[in-house]
Amino acid sequence: MSLLFVGQSSADPAHTPGGPCIQDDQTVSRSSVADYDDTVRTLGQIERSSNGLVTVDSAGVSGEGRELLYATVGSGGDVFWLQGRIHGNELQGTQAVLDVIRWLAGGSQEARMIRDNLTVVAIPLYNPDGAEANIRQSTTPNRIDLNRDWENFAQPESRAFYALWEAVRPKLALDVHHMSSAPRVEGTNDLNQFQIGARSISPTRMTDQQWLTNRQMASLTLETLDGYGQTHTARYPDIDITNAVLSRMLLGGPGPDGSDPGFQTQGAIFYEVRSVGQKSNGYLTNLFTRPVTAVLTAAADGSLYGHGVSSWEAEPYARSGSCGEF
Ligand SMILES: [Zn+2]
Repeated sequence: MSLLFVGQSSADPAHTPGGPCIQDDQTVSRSSVADYDDTVRTLGQIERSSNGLVTVDSAGVSGEGRELLYATVGSGGDVFWLQGRIHGNELQGTQAVLDVIRWLAGGSQEARMIRDNLTVVAIPLYNPDGAEANIRQSTTPNRIDLNRDWENFAQPESRAFYALWEAVRPKLALDVHHMSSAPRVEGTNDLNQFQIGARSISPTRMTDQQWLTNRQMASLTLETLDGYGQTHTARYPDIDITNAVLSRMLLGGPGPDGSDPGFQTQGAIFYEVRSVGQKSNGYLTNLFTRPVTAVLTAAADGSLYGHGVSSWEAEPYARSGSCGEF
């Protein structure tokens, strides 16, 4: 790590070698990462061993005909939507969501409490075709960024998951992504491993309650990672993207046929985790699962809705030139 800093003084942060994004010297080995077949098999194993606590269903089929699988855990009134790998080449989101599903089916006190108070709808692999091709977008009928398709709904994946969203009416949603390289935290030379995305649309387009809930989810997330290893967190750049999945959930439709679903998701945020070599896979997966399980717990016991927002308010941005793309 120190080699990356040779010739760079903290008084001259604008001249970071290689620009704001540090490319990792070690690429992730796809063989160590859950693919579509692994996802099908693992979900089946979890379902069979869960004694009825986890059910696995398909929301539809992808452009190439793969099942769009999701797991449902819990029987509480509030629905929590967790999705991973809408971008096929953002590898570890799938394993992280599978790990969370397995944990939710377990015997811990937190998992029981969450199952009693929430219904968790978890999608480990939103974009199976893109994952198999190791690309960001879908493959057929078109190469489309599925996180820019909840306006045109050109892809079968988008229509299927919108219909599921409309059917289950999630109160909260979390979407996990990867940065392909690491920026630095603004004002420091710290490599930034985790970005928090509290807004995919401008707060002026959210209700006051949505913006509060998003910042509560974000603050709790940041507090969970504070002091965890060498993790340095930062805010994702401010964006206002209408056709992203979370944005459409917050805006409350309209859907593919123009109809109004009659509800809006109250809180919807995203994570961007640095993607590095396979030796770090366990650490990276924990960067997802630690905050996800904390947010689930707080949503289930209700403490989330009284949580402060100061941790998010105080959070620095990543240095200009974002390295992940939501
Ligand atoms: Zn992404």
